[in-house]
Amino acid sequence: MHHTKYLLIGSSHAGLSALDAIRLQDKEGALTLVTQESCLPYSPTILPYVLSGQTNPDKVFLRDQQSLDSQSVAFKPGARVVAVDGRNRQVTLESGEKMEYEKLLLATGAAPKRPRVEGLEAVPHHVLRTLEDAVKLRSGLRKDRTAVVLGAGLIGLHAAENLAKSGMRVVVVEALSQVLPGYFDEEASQMIHKAFSENGVKILLNEKGLKVKGADGKTTLSLASGGSLSAGLLVVATGVQPRVEFLEGSGVEVDQGILVDERMRTSVSGIWAAGDVAQARGFFEPSKILSATLPNAVEQGRLAGMDMVDDPALKVYPGAVNLNTYKFFGHRAFSVGMIRTEKGCEVEKEIVPENFKYQKLVFKDDQLVGASGINSDLDPGIMYQLIRRKAYLGDVKARFCASPGEGRGPPRRARRGTRHDGSASQPPVESTGR
Ligand SMILES: Cc1cc2nc3c(=O)[nH]c(=O)nc-3n(C[C@H](O)[C@H](O)[C@H](O)COP(=O)(O)OP(=O)(O)OC[C@H]3O[C@@H](n4cnc5c(N)ncnc54)[C@H](O)[C@@H]3O)c2cc1C
Repeated sequence: MHHTKYLLIGSSHAGLSALDAIRLQDKEGALTLVTQESCLPYSPTILPYVLSGQTNPDKVFLRDQQSLDSQSVAFKPGARVVAVDGRNRQVTLESGEKMEYEKLLLATGAAPKRPRVEGLEAVPHHVLRTLEDAVKLRSGLRKDRTAVVLGAGLIGLHAAENLAKSGMRVVVVEALSQVLPGYFDEEASQMIHKAFSENGVKILLNEKGLKVKGADGKTTLSLASGGSLSAGLLVVATGVQPRVEFLEGSGVEVDQGILVDERMRTSVSGIWAAGDVAQARGFFEPSKILSATLPNAVEQGRLAGMDMVDDPALKVYPGAVNLNTYKFFGHRAFSVGMIRTEKGCEVEKEIVPENFKYQKLVFKDDQLVGASGINSDLDPGIMYQLIRRKAYLGDVKARFCASPGEGRGPPRRARRGTRHDGSASQPPVESTGR
């Protein structure tokens, strides 16, 4: 039986980050990296560019075989783990092969969530999570054809934009009352929605697909509101869920994701989890939450790897502060930390419609707790650090709000401050900028 000191399941951001942290302390301990995919490690964040054709699928890899060899990694692609036996420290692969480990990292990420739409299993549809998905979807792009996208989250909108740019007529169906509900407030979402409408993408809000049927190369989706949509291509992008199905009977405690402590340890000794599959404490609250973002996967993977080798430099996980950047139709947007306000929050908003610019800062107890923007000069990385470090801005808050971008960019206008209840704490003012 294959025996390894460190067994890492999943070769994406969390797995690779753990690998690097382990190799900083232990250059020689036998380390095996397995993935169910048949290719070298890559980032799912590159997939929209593969879909658009901006990036060649051969050029997306995060590591090549040579760099894995130089880190003494036994890389095993095409190896799907189907069971974990925590008591005997063994995993079983789909092929039936068993592997013994001393320390195990579960970094299996998340898989697309299928919505409850009658008939969906029986009709051809696309998702966008793996390189194979992106290549397949790209090959489905044709001029003068139609597409329906279920879900107006980041992945749904990435798909819709690229389908539209390839000349297809696209309709997006979203059950909630705004696009990107997990990332932006209603005002910012409306601006993004407008950009999509102006580029020919129709978005139906407060709408659901109930039933789907396929015939003659067309898919017909019956809508909750009574109408129906027919299209040549159906894309399902209604969220993701942690990949945990192989843990049944393992003893590893799972809620929505794998429950981990502040060192990424699971409930079973010798097993850690990190990234999209893990459910760890939040930054703003101690309850355990999922956080499916790249920076979070990198950080959790690093901490898990450090703990696996007892690295004395480890500082426990402070909780995830979500950070997302998003480009659409020539615009750039970001959101970090709290999007919606709660009691005691103060909001500084700035909107310049003619520049298609939006900027929002959220404060609580004189600390920045959230920031978002569209075509804003704010640096998402700096906003992230201010939030993470709980920087006290009391004495400089007014100056910070007047010039958070340190004078970069055009003059600011239509700045307004609001309290959490939405009432204006001061009337809109014209800023002179700097
Ligand atoms: C289209 C798209 C765009 C995105 N854009 C952004 C963005 O702009 N910003 C951002 O922060 N995040 C973005 N994300 C999310 C980001 O990619 C994830 O948060 C990140 O990849 C999580 O890393 P991970 O290592 O936890 O899991 P994953 O990247 O999901 O990797 C999991 C790995 O585990 C393997 N695996 C799973 N199950 C098994 C098994 N049973 N046996 C063996 N191997 C297994 C998989 O094959 C894969 O290699 C995007 C995601 C997608 C799909």
